[in-house]
Amino acid sequence: MATDYLEITDLTVSFDGFIAVDTVNLTVLKSDLRFLIGPNGAGKTTIIDAISGLVPSTGSIEFAGNHLQGKKVHKIARLGVGRTFQTSTVFEDLTVLQNLDIAAGAHRTPLTLLRRRSAVPEEVTAALETIGLTGQIDTLAGVLSHGQKQWLEIGMLLVQNAQLLLLDEPVAGMSHDERNATGELLQRISTERTVVIVEHDMDFMRSFAKSVTVLAAGKVLSEGSVAEVQADPRVQAVYLGT
Ligand code: ADP
Repeated sequence: MATDYLEITDLTVSFDGFIAVDTVNLTVLKSDLRFLIGPNGAGKTTIIDAISGLVPSTGSIEFAGNHLQGKKVHKIARLGVGRTFQTSTVFEDLTVLQNLDIAAGAHRTPLTLLRRRSAVPEEVTAALETIGLTGQIDTLAGVLSHGQKQWLEIGMLLVQNAQLLLLDEPVAGMSHDERNATGELLQRISTERTVVIVEHDMDFMRSFAKSVTVLAAGKVLSEGSVAEVQADPRVQAVYLGT
């Protein structure tokens, strides 16, 4: 089996008897930039919650040869799965550099932490370049724009060495320019890592998706390239008028 490869089989998540995700099969190859789209309540966020260990599920979730189900959130993170949320979780009173340093520290072994550092660690420098915040290392995270905070969150996943990034509506509330910059950022990241993104913004999806899975009422409705899912009459029925 390929490495860094997500394979979900018969994934089911229930809340008090309500089936939010219903026997979903999903395969994502390394370096994909997969969009999960579908109407509100389709189960998109619940799928990434299940992958990151936030909600219990049945079926099978395998990533890079590891079975994720039943593992704790921090253990799944250590296996290379990173997650962002719709609301920012950056430390607003700390600088960009301090936020990245803390995230990197969470990943470092005690031995590397003991070593004295005189310079910014290499992985932090690389992440700053990727997210375009090199010029803002001393800026307090709290004064960053909404878009920059999302990029910092993504940077924190990069320094934690996340290989699979699960992003929940990262461009919601962003300006047009920030949205495009985010799409380009995700394209850069997905040359080496794998991105699964829950998104409502159809223009953003059309511009940047490498592949798309359409969900409705907890089930996979359609899957393929942007052109393929857009041509699918079942998808057109769900998105009638858009
Ligand atoms: P989407 O992300 O596609 O909008 P969600 O995954 O957030 O959909 O939700 C899928 C369904 O599961 C919705 O009907 C939602 O109300 C329900 N749901 C999600 N989380 C919970 C929860 N913690 N408890 C009860 N129901 C939930």
